[in-house]
Amino acid sequence: MGPQVVPVASDPTCPPDADVVIVGGGIIGTTSALYLAERGLKVVLCEKGHIAGEQSSRNWGWCRQAKRDPREFELIREALRLWRGMDAHIGASTGFTTTGILFAANDAKKEASFADWVRDAAGAGIQAEMLSGAALAHHMPGDTRPPPAALWCSSDGRAEPQRAAPAIAEAARRRGALILTDCAVRGVETGGGKVIAAITERGRIATPHVVVAGGAWTRRILRDVGIDLPQLKVRASVLRTSPVAGGPTPALWDHDFAFRRREDGGYTIANGHVNVVPIVPDSFRFAFDFLPALRMEFASVRLRLGPRFVTEWRERARRTFDEPSVYEAVRVLDPAPDNHYLAEAFAALQRRFPAFAGARMVQSWAGFIDATPDAVPVISPVDTVSGLVVAAGFSGHGFGIGPGAGHLVADLVTGARPIADPQPYRLSRFFDGSRPRPMAGL
Ligand SMILES: Cc1cc2nc3c(=O)[nH]c(=O)nc-3n(C[C@H](O)[C@H](O)[C@H](O)COP(=O)(O)OP(=O)(O)OC[C@H]3O[C@@H](n4cnc5c(N)ncnc54)[C@H](O)[C@@H]3O)c2cc1C
Repeated sequence: MGPQVVPVASDPTCPPDADVVIVGGGIIGTTSALYLAERGLKVVLCEKGHIAGEQSSRNWGWCRQAKRDPREFELIREALRLWRGMDAHIGASTGFTTTGILFAANDAKKEASFADWVRDAAGAGIQAEMLSGAALAHHMPGDTRPPPAALWCSSDGRAEPQRAAPAIAEAARRRGALILTDCAVRGVETGGGKVIAAITERGRIATPHVVVAGGAWTRRILRDVGIDLPQLKVRASVLRTSPVAGGPTPALWDHDFAFRRREDGGYTIANGHVNVVPIVPDSFRFAFDFLPALRMEFASVRLRLGPRFVTEWRERARRTFDEPSVYEAVRVLDPAPDNHYLAEAFAALQRRFPAFAGARMVQSWAGFIDATPDAVPVISPVDTVSGLVVAAGFSGHGFGIGPGAGHLVADLVTGARPIADPQPYRLSRFFDGSRPRPMAGL
């Protein structure tokens, strides 16, 4: 079972029409709803399960610029600016706080690559630095085996995933958006090359705009309108601890573990170097596209053949709008966590930081990260279907960039000046021969 998420009640009625229908109530769908509703549009957000039921409540909660792909610099810089003002803007708490984030550099090669990154980021207005010795110890008190150096981004922060998207959804509702939960979108009705309606399990909503922010389901949704989005899933596991007195405030990634302090005094902990990739029918379909990513993450990838193969094979079957969809069959995608890797990470952390010695693992869970071949999201209109916008493929770092992405979605739908150059996020890069490659990975 996933973590406990602040509940968001559904609005009772499904309207016959809307200016925009948003598919998916994660951080991307809810921020899109907020910024679209603020522009006076009639917005309906449809979530098949509950708000933030999938990735957006299961993540580490890191809102980081550190170690980002340079193609995301402008958008993440803006996203952090939005996070800093978010609580005041929506009149509710997302738990966002600026704490700084550290990435350990355990060898000279990594140190040199982080130092290069620091220079590139400075050119984009993101301040970061390399730390070592006493300066590093200041941020990681109690570390008995500190790394030789670390990348430090002091303006990075964290928010609380179990209440950020719910708080933003409620704020969108206060601005006039309708929030429908337990309301799957079965498909998008098109005609004459444009969006006509969203077909939900509660009825048809006539609309000229649909935003697909369906996370790991986005490929399945787009396939029905003839778009072959290259997207695969990575299973990532997390544990949370009982409260820890005297633990570090900033978040840290190191080879064996990654952690961040939670508002409840415990920590969210993960294994720093394991990415479990289930083998599914699409693994073969996209083997070539994902080869550069596989090479880049080779040491951390654990390929697994299991029941997921059959599940996704079955989910491929086409259904009519009158039949219950695969989305209704799986209200919340809730994979079992890889507790073995989590136990390794927790033990390594306890050996290194005595403050964690008495902590207990309270809960563990997993989520499916939706990844693209270049590990950069798609935030883009669809050239072949006017009115259709995709915002997915956030490749393991969409929570932090969420408000920036939601703002960009609203800009694309309304034709406003974009908050950041949308060019790196265009869908067409996968079909026009660009063959984009990963630069920073998940
Ligand atoms: C373990 C883990 C750790 C992570 N750590 C971080 C981190 O520290 N920092 C960071 O920035 N990112 C992190 N990420 C990634 C981040 O969580 C995601 O990139 C982000 O939450 C994606 O948001 P989303 O709204 O696109 O997708 P989701 O949160 O997955 O939301 C998609 C929603 O769409 C709904 N949906 C799908 N199909 C339909 C349909 N047909 N009808 C209606 N609803 C539908 C789903 O039910 C789901 O709720 C992590 C992810 C995981 C799994």
